[in-house]
Amino acid sequence: MARSYVHEARRRVAPKRERIRPIIERLAAEHPDATIALRFVSPLELLVSVMLSAQTMDVNVNRVTERLFVKYRRPEDYLAVPQEELERDIFATGFFRQKAKSLRGTMRMLIDDFGGEVPRTMEELLRLPGVARKTANVVAAELGQPQGIVVDTHVRRLSQRLGLTRQEDPVKIERDLMRLVPRPDWGRFPHLLIWHGRRVCDARRPACERCVLNDLCPSSRVEASVPVDVL
Ligand code: SF4
Repeated sequence: MARSYVHEARRRVAPKRERIRPIIERLAAEHPDATIALRFVSPLELLVSVMLSAQTMDVNVNRVTERLFVKYRRPEDYLAVPQEELERDIFATGFFRQKAKSLRGTMRMLIDDFGGEVPRTMEELLRLPGVARKTANVVAAELGQPQGIVVDTHVRRLSQRLGLTRQEDPVKIERDLMRLVPRPDWGRFPHLLIWHGRRVCDARRPACERCVLNDLCPSSRVEASVPVDVL
């Protein structure tokens, strides 16, 4: 069970509705390069990359897909080889048996139900075998049609530390964030939190002293130099 960071949000700051806009603006200025780390050039490559990224690092996926996408260009290509061959080709991403099975099931459905194209709506994406809410959210957002907010471990930790949610469950955290974050920012918001989480707000040792949000964050370990707003 992942550690809860809800209790860290104790310092008094302005209500979250007043803080969300400056939080997004400052993070966008701080991390202008905050985009998805997976490499892909088509919706199909995006979908495969995100499916392979479960339980492993993006850099690992990129190493595998560099060769994979030369060999497998269309949904049919994933079905044209024995499952064992596909398993070998994605072995380094871990959980290769389950991932190969999901990939083949997904390719089958893309061909049978979607004309070989990657669908755009959450409802359709969630029908694909092995595609859960997080994967569907990432794919929809990267295709320019975010319909929710991706919640991974960084998004969860930072949302809790920043006092944007008191929830533990990713679905409930997402619901809180969807009520709070302006819709045009649904796509970039998770990237901003993910990159800030990697570079500054580390799980064990958050670098509050050099954090651009330290006057907006109820979990900051930096003493406020001016009185902060009271809730
Ligand atoms: S690093 Fe920033 S966001 Fe994280 S706890 Fe410290 S002040 Fe808050």
